[in-house]
Amino acid sequence: MNGFRRSLTALAALCLFAASPPAPAADAPPERIYVNARVWTGAPERPSAEAFAVRGDRFLAVGSDAAVRALAGPETQVVDLGGRRVVPGFNDAHWHLPARKDARLDGAGSVAAIQQRLVEYSKTLPPDSWVTGRGWMPTDFPDRDAHRRYLDVIFPDRPVVIRDRDGHQALANTQALRLAKVTRDTPDPADGIVVRDADGEPTGLLKEGAASLVRKLLPPLTPQDEYRLLLDELAAAASFGLTSLQDASEGGPTELESGAVERAMAEGRLTVRYRTALPFEEQPDPRRLRSRVDGCRAAHDSLHTCGFVKLILDGTVDAKTAVMLEPYVGGGNGLAFLSQATLDRAVAAYDRAGLQVEIHAIGDGAIRMALDACERAARTNGTSGRRHRIEHVEVPALADLPRFRELGVIASTQAIFATPDVSTLENYAPLIGSERSARAQPFRLFDEAGAVQAFGSDYPVYPMDPLLGIYTAVTRQTPAGTPAGGWYPGNRIGVEAALAHYTRDAAYAEFAETDKGSITPGRYADFVVLSRDILAIPPAELLDARVLLTVMGGRETYSAARP
Ligand SMILES: [Zn+2]
Repeated sequence: MNGFRRSLTALAALCLFAASPPAPAADAPPERIYVNARVWTGAPERPSAEAFAVRGDRFLAVGSDAAVRALAGPETQVVDLGGRRVVPGFNDAHWHLPARKDARLDGAGSVAAIQQRLVEYSKTLPPDSWVTGRGWMPTDFPDRDAHRRYLDVIFPDRPVVIRDRDGHQALANTQALRLAKVTRDTPDPADGIVVRDADGEPTGLLKEGAASLVRKLLPPLTPQDEYRLLLDELAAAASFGLTSLQDASEGGPTELESGAVERAMAEGRLTVRYRTALPFEEQPDPRRLRSRVDGCRAAHDSLHTCGFVKLILDGTVDAKTAVMLEPYVGGGNGLAFLSQATLDRAVAAYDRAGLQVEIHAIGDGAIRMALDACERAARTNGTSGRRHRIEHVEVPALADLPRFRELGVIASTQAIFATPDVSTLENYAPLIGSERSARAQPFRLFDEAGAVQAFGSDYPVYPMDPLLGIYTAVTRQTPAGTPAGGWYPGNRIGVEAALAHYTRDAAYAEFAETDKGSITPGRYADFVVLSRDILAIPPAELLDARVLLTVMGGRETYSAARP
């Protein structure tokens, strides 16, 4: 993409936060050494160390305190980490830049909490502007009855629209419905439902496509809004120890988003390594594809990279739209958005062009379709090593597990999806029954099958905090510690495996394992210092661990002392 090259030139000219600043002389001493640490390197050949040295944007040496101290020159800064645990920078393999700034309603748990968060958030906005939020659950409302009256109480005159956690429904208040001219006479759109009460009046709940009746009125973001949004998200990511984000948005970034990323890069404020998709087309034009592949190759050393397309093959278990081999309890097999023939053709076209394909597939039926498409593409094209990925890959058939390793297909899982909250226990699990629940989010089964498993969050659907993800993978419990023993505990994994999935394996999933993902001489100096030794504390205490320091390419991007 031209934009990438343009940005690279701008970056070189400004010489600010470059991924590859002018390399120091080969025999120059390190600028900084970090000593007295407990380092989990993520490198199997040297799993632990006490100290490491950084020169330019890369690790120069990793080893014992004495060996690393011996490298110091007169100008070298020595940082004593006080025995803290250090791990490679976290890499979120499945993340999205939110479309707009919203009040976060995740885990609110009650109407009162939703109301309070919305009121707090509204104070940060210009008066009378729309109040938007996302992350509520039907169980937050009495009798699971999400109704506009709960919003009207706090905002009688100001329009409010809030989306649920999965983005399949929205709740609007009376003022928002009024502005959108949604009344009892408004017909349901073809792709959604305007929920009505017994008298036929809209309740404010708008399912699927009906949400756009109201959401289309939200004022578009300006380039400056978008830039602020991006910088806020980058700051949040750094505070969670994230040094790499792989944006899984289908279609790739919008022009506004690309503009913000390029501006951040040019101004030295892109504080993560950021990977975005190319637009997906069912029948891509080979010439255009070739030029895109060239653009991505040129951007390889940049902070903003590309090289993949993302497509969505099925829906979700909760909505009964994930494609299952056998019917849901109560009927229905889900909904495939592409036929096998169309999927095969599209995957083969991108595979041929040298691009990676990320396929959103959740049900065992869709996962099998995706694996079949990857297998056929490799056979037809005579290719290998494309590292195609299946995103979410929630309920694989046991017979398909070995195929991940055989085909080199990556299992892009989200640890936090295994949170056994009310929605998991009372909707998700009953819909698929116990046999399938036992193989849902099967982190251990993937590891045992030798699959490369890359962890991500699916933010903003779920919080992006990798420590929360690690806690969930290790305990399969809610943050409150329920249920005792964990939800299908046979699929728990250890902290070390979870760390590998959030670092080294996530890097592999973006063809970057020789540049990052472990604390190894020559790799980018991306690392995190933690307040607790997560490899030594009991699992229940993982949630107490905090990020104290995040370093990306040798530069501090977050410090708890100076947040
Ligand atoms: Zn996603």
